[in-house]
Amino acid sequence: MKTAIKTLIKKQNLIIAGPCSVENNEQLLRTAFELKETKKVDILRAGIWKPRTNPGHFEGVGKKGLSWLMDVKKQTNLPTAVEVASAKHVEDALAFETDVLWIGARTCVNPFSVQEIAEALKGTDQTVLIKNPVNPDLKLWTGAVERIQKAGIESLGLIHRGFTTYGETEYRNAPIWQIPIEMKRLFPDLPMICDPSHISGKRDNLLKIAQKSIDLAYSGLMIESHYNPLIALTDKEQQVNAIDLIKLLESIQWKNISSEKNDYLTELEQLRTQIDSIDQEVLQLLANRMHIAQNIGSIKKTNDVTILQSNRWNELLKNTISRANKLNLNDEFVKNYMEAIHIESIRIQNLID
Ligand code: PEP
Ligand code: MN
Repeated sequence: MKTAIKTLIKKQNLIIAGPCSVENNEQLLRTAFELKETKKVDILRAGIWKPRTNPGHFEGVGKKGLSWLMDVKKQTNLPTAVEVASAKHVEDALAFETDVLWIGARTCVNPFSVQEIAEALKGTDQTVLIKNPVNPDLKLWTGAVERIQKAGIESLGLIHRGFTTYGETEYRNAPIWQIPIEMKRLFPDLPMICDPSHISGKRDNLLKIAQKSIDLAYSGLMIESHYNPLIALTDKEQQVNAIDLIKLLESIQWKNISSEKNDYLTELEQLRTQIDSIDQEVLQLLANRMHIAQNIGSIKKTNDVTILQSNRWNELLKNTISRANKLNLNDEFVKNYMEAIHIESIRIQNLID
């Protein structure tokens, strides 16, 4: 089973589905059987211990749910995945033959907890998935991966579930796609799984988020599913029943990581050559621009004039954005680009002595 799980976790278009929380044996059984029937689910997820933001809510059924899960696995043949937040959780989950453990977003933020889990995993040969931390801190995420890797765990994966923000936002947890993209660059061999349920927070946005992740070459999805989401004890707005899960998965335009078609490869090569040469030109122009900024810095210094010239910066930004609009370039992108240039220009001018 262990080797099979290690291969499974790396599968392209892996689907993990199951209830946010195990609520009782019947709910688990019914949900698991309905998911099994879809023939689209590879792993059954289920929360046993639930980290709730505020007290007084359902906090999971605890250890007894693990034996229900073990039974369900025997009946459906679906491998199981459970969230662990402490050494005790790891010990219990393994005692009940849980196939995959995942470290939740609230645990990933805490190096003490991650280390404790890492120690408990030593010598186990377990498959572990690591969710991003709740806050958009790439280093906490990479740190958690390194701690688990150092414990000798080789079968690892990542889950992108979005990041908390303040106030009313479109999504429950902002996706901030550049963080998982950077994680993929840093850990190219680890599968990246998207959890559109916790990013979107509502059923209606699942497809949009899931599609985006597939276009970003994620290797799978983790989707919360309950036989009747309306009565779910946790995350009822974002869970889907098996029928809606099928609809969702069938609405996604699945993509290949690559294509061997000759036409595609030739055209791609030509376009990439153009991009590479433009990138070189842009780089040379940036270097020229920074050189001029340095000269400007020198004359400001000689004449006792401040480096920051807010009016000039404001004009420059406005004019560039209006020119960018005519070229069909996105405002936000051009603003970020100009800001990056401006900050670097100030940095360079500050170095002049
Ligand atoms: C969950 O998967 O049910 C969960 C609690 O997720 P997260 O750690 O992403 O909040
Ligand atoms: Mn949940």
